[in-house]
Amino acid sequence: MSSTRDIDNLIEMMAKLPGLGPRSARRAVLHLIRKQALLMTPLADLMQTVATTARECLNCGNVGTNDICDICASEKRANSEICVVEDVSDLWAMERSGVFKGRYHVLGGTLSALDAIGPDELRIPRLIDRVQTESITEVILALNATIDGQTTAHYIADQLEGRVKLTSLAQGVPIGGELDYLDDGTITAALQARKAL
Ligand SMILES: [Zn+2]
Repeated sequence: MSSTRDIDNLIEMMAKLPGLGPRSARRAVLHLIRKQALLMTPLADLMQTVATTARECLNCGNVGTNDICDICASEKRANSEICVVEDVSDLWAMERSGVFKGRYHVLGGTLSALDAIGPDELRIPRLIDRVQTESITEVILALNATIDGQTTAHYIADQLEGRVKLTSLAQGVPIGGELDYLDDGTITAALQARKAL
Protein backbone atom coordinates (compact mmCIF):
# COMPACT_ATOMS: atom_id res chain seq x y z
CA MET A 1 0.00 0.00 0.00
CA SER A 2 1.25 3.44 -0.84
CA SER A 3 2.44 5.38 2.20
CA THR A 4 0.44 8.40 1.08
CA ARG A 5 -2.80 6.59 0.35
CA ASP A 6 -4.71 7.93 3.37
CA ILE A 7 -3.47 11.43 2.65
CA ASP A 8 -4.47 11.09 -1.00
CA ASN A 9 -7.92 9.94 0.09
CA LEU A 10 -8.21 12.91 2.44
CA ILE A 11 -7.30 15.28 -0.38
CA GLU A 12 -9.85 13.62 -2.62
CA MET A 13 -12.58 14.05 0.01
CA MET A 14 -11.64 17.66 0.73
CA ALA A 15 -11.73 18.44 -2.99
CA LYS A 16 -15.45 17.59 -2.94
CA LEU A 17 -16.18 20.51 -0.62
CA PRO A 18 -17.81 23.57 -2.19
CA GLY A 19 -15.24 26.20 -3.03
CA LEU A 20 -12.36 23.76 -2.95
CA GLY A 21 -10.87 22.01 -5.97
CA PRO A 22 -8.02 19.51 -6.01
CA ARG A 23 -5.40 22.24 -5.81
CA SER A 24 -6.94 24.01 -2.80
CA ALA A 25 -7.58 20.63 -1.18
CA ARG A 26 -3.89 19.71 -1.48
CA ARG A 27 -2.87 23.01 0.08
CA ALA A 28 -5.41 22.64 2.88
CA VAL A 29 -4.33 19.09 3.72
CA LEU A 30 -0.66 20.04 3.70
CA HIS A 31 -1.46 22.93 6.02
CA LEU A 32 -3.41 20.63 8.34
CA ILE A 33 -0.54 18.13 8.48
CA ARG A 34 1.89 20.88 9.39
CA LYS A 35 -0.47 22.24 12.07
CA GLN A 36 -1.43 18.87 13.40
CA ALA A 37 -1.81 19.71 17.09
CA LEU A 38 -3.09 23.23 16.61
CA LEU A 39 -5.54 22.61 13.80
CA MET A 40 -5.93 19.09 12.49
CA THR A 41 -6.67 17.22 15.71
CA PRO A 42 -9.19 19.77 17.07
CA LEU A 43 -10.79 19.95 13.62
CA ALA A 44 -11.11 16.17 13.41
CA ASP A 45 -12.62 16.10 16.92
CA LEU A 46 -15.12 18.83 16.05
CA MET A 47 -16.11 17.14 12.81
CA GLN A 48 -16.67 13.91 14.71
CA THR A 49 -18.87 15.73 17.23
CA VAL A 50 -20.87 17.70 14.68
CA ALA A 51 -21.29 14.60 12.52
CA THR A 52 -23.18 12.95 15.36
CA THR A 53 -25.08 15.98 16.71
CA ALA A 54 -26.00 18.14 13.70
CA ARG A 55 -29.60 17.88 12.59
CA GLU A 56 -32.34 19.86 10.88
CA CYS A 57 -34.82 21.72 13.05
CA LEU A 58 -38.10 19.83 12.92
CA ASN A 59 -40.00 23.11 12.79
CA CYS A 60 -38.14 25.32 10.33
CA GLY A 61 -35.33 23.32 8.69
CA ASN A 62 -32.49 25.38 10.15
CA VAL A 63 -29.48 23.35 11.28
CA GLY A 64 -28.40 23.00 14.87
CA THR A 65 -27.73 20.33 17.42
CA ASN A 66 -31.23 20.14 18.91
CA ASP A 67 -34.51 18.93 17.41
CA ILE A 68 -35.78 22.51 17.67
CA CYS A 69 -33.28 25.21 16.68
CA ASP A 70 -32.27 28.19 18.83
CA ILE A 71 -34.32 30.64 16.74
CA CYS A 72 -37.52 28.58 16.99
CA ALA A 73 -36.90 28.03 20.69
CA SER A 74 -36.13 31.68 21.47
CA GLU A 75 -38.74 33.68 23.33
CA LYS A 76 -37.20 36.91 22.08
CA ARG A 77 -38.17 36.39 18.43
CA ALA A 78 -41.44 37.72 17.03
CA ASN A 79 -43.99 34.98 16.43
CA SER A 80 -45.94 36.97 13.89
CA GLU A 81 -43.41 37.03 11.01
CA ILE A 82 -41.89 34.17 9.08
CA CYS A 83 -39.10 34.78 6.59
CA VAL A 84 -39.01 32.05 3.94
CA VAL A 85 -35.57 31.25 2.53
CA GLU A 86 -34.26 28.61 0.17
CA ASP A 87 -31.28 27.43 2.11
CA VAL A 88 -29.74 27.57 5.57
CA SER A 89 -26.93 29.71 4.11
CA ASP A 90 -29.60 32.34 3.28
CA LEU A 91 -30.90 32.17 6.85
CA TRP A 92 -27.37 32.70 8.12
CA ALA A 93 -26.95 35.68 5.77
CA MET A 94 -30.17 37.23 7.11
CA GLU A 95 -29.02 36.61 10.67
CA ARG A 96 -25.64 38.25 9.99
CA SER A 97 -27.45 41.43 8.98
CA GLY A 98 -29.27 41.27 12.34
CA VAL A 99 -32.25 43.18 10.96
CA PHE A 100 -34.90 40.45 11.08
CA LYS A 101 -36.43 39.64 14.47
CA GLY A 102 -39.03 37.08 13.45
CA ARG A 103 -38.67 33.40 12.66
CA TYR A 104 -37.66 31.47 9.56
CA HIS A 105 -38.72 28.70 7.30
CA VAL A 106 -36.06 26.97 5.20
CA LEU A 107 -37.49 25.36 2.06
CA GLY A 108 -34.45 23.26 1.27
CA GLY A 109 -34.30 24.33 -2.37
CA THR A 110 -36.59 25.63 -5.08
CA LEU A 111 -39.25 24.13 -7.29
CA SER A 112 -37.64 22.83 -10.42
CA ALA A 113 -39.43 21.06 -13.24
CA LEU A 114 -36.06 20.14 -14.73
CA ASP A 115 -34.91 18.34 -11.58
CA ALA A 116 -38.40 17.01 -10.77
CA ILE A 117 -38.54 18.94 -7.49
CA GLY A 118 -42.16 19.59 -6.52
CA PRO A 119 -43.71 21.17 -3.39
CA ASP A 120 -43.54 17.90 -1.46
CA GLU A 121 -39.80 17.64 -2.00
CA LEU A 122 -39.45 21.01 -0.27
CA ARG A 123 -40.75 22.13 3.13
CA ILE A 124 -43.76 23.84 1.52
CA PRO A 125 -46.52 21.70 3.13
CA ARG A 126 -44.92 22.36 6.52
CA LEU A 127 -44.92 26.12 5.79
CA ILE A 128 -48.64 26.08 4.97
CA ASP A 129 -49.19 24.09 8.15
CA ARG A 130 -47.28 26.67 10.21
CA VAL A 131 -49.27 29.55 8.74
CA GLN A 132 -52.48 27.75 9.71
CA THR A 133 -51.45 26.76 13.22
CA GLU A 134 -49.12 29.53 14.43
CA SER A 135 -50.20 33.13 14.98
CA ILE A 136 -48.47 34.42 11.87
CA THR A 137 -49.55 37.67 10.28
CA GLU A 138 -46.81 38.15 7.67
CA VAL A 139 -44.82 35.82 5.45
CA ILE A 140 -41.76 37.42 3.89
CA LEU A 141 -40.55 35.59 0.80
CA ALA A 142 -36.79 36.08 0.73
CA LEU A 143 -36.11 33.79 -2.18
CA ASN A 144 -33.29 34.32 -4.60
CA ALA A 145 -33.89 36.33 -7.75
CA THR A 146 -33.32 33.29 -9.96
CA ILE A 147 -36.04 31.91 -12.25
CA ASP A 148 -36.58 28.90 -9.95
CA GLY A 149 -36.56 31.14 -6.87
CA GLN A 150 -39.24 33.39 -8.31
CA THR A 151 -41.33 30.46 -9.58
CA THR A 152 -41.25 29.08 -6.05
CA ALA A 153 -42.21 32.46 -4.57
CA HIS A 154 -45.23 32.68 -6.89
CA TYR A 155 -46.30 29.15 -6.04
CA ILE A 156 -46.15 29.85 -2.29
CA ALA A 157 -47.94 33.18 -2.75
CA ASP A 158 -50.75 31.35 -4.59
CA GLN A 159 -51.05 28.78 -1.81
CA LEU A 160 -51.17 31.38 0.98
CA GLU A 161 -53.14 34.10 -0.72
CA GLY A 162 -55.88 35.49 1.50
CA ARG A 163 -54.59 33.71 4.60
CA VAL A 164 -51.73 36.01 5.54
CA LYS A 165 -49.97 39.21 4.49
CA LEU A 166 -47.38 38.31 1.86
CA THR A 167 -44.33 40.41 1.14
CA SER A 168 -41.07 39.91 -0.71
CA LEU A 169 -37.67 41.47 -0.39
CA ALA A 170 -37.37 44.72 -2.32
CA GLN A 171 -35.31 44.94 -5.46
CA GLY A 172 -31.76 45.38 -4.43
CA VAL A 173 -31.26 41.67 -4.46
CA PRO A 174 -29.46 41.35 -7.79
CA ILE A 175 -30.88 39.16 -10.53
CA GLY A 176 -29.49 35.67 -10.07
CA GLY A 177 -28.03 36.90 -6.80
CA GLU A 178 -28.00 34.70 -3.77
CA LEU A 179 -28.60 36.19 -0.36
CA ASP A 180 -25.42 34.63 0.95
CA TYR A 181 -23.34 36.82 -1.36
CA LEU A 182 -24.97 40.08 -0.34
CA ASP A 183 -23.49 42.42 2.20
CA ASP A 184 -25.42 43.10 5.39
CA GLY A 185 -26.42 46.62 4.31
CA THR A 186 -28.02 45.36 1.10
CA ILE A 187 -29.98 42.70 2.96
CA THR A 188 -31.12 45.26 5.53
CA ALA A 189 -32.26 47.67 2.81
CA ALA A 190 -34.06 44.89 0.89
CA LEU A 191 -35.90 43.79 4.02
CA GLN A 192 -36.85 47.26 5.19
CA ALA A 193 -38.19 48.19 1.74
CA ARG A 194 -40.04 44.89 1.31
CA LYS A 195 -43.15 45.10 -0.77
CA ALA A 196 -46.54 43.49 -0.64
CA LEU A 197 -47.25 40.77 -3.19
ZN1 LIG B 1 -36.14 26.13 13.78
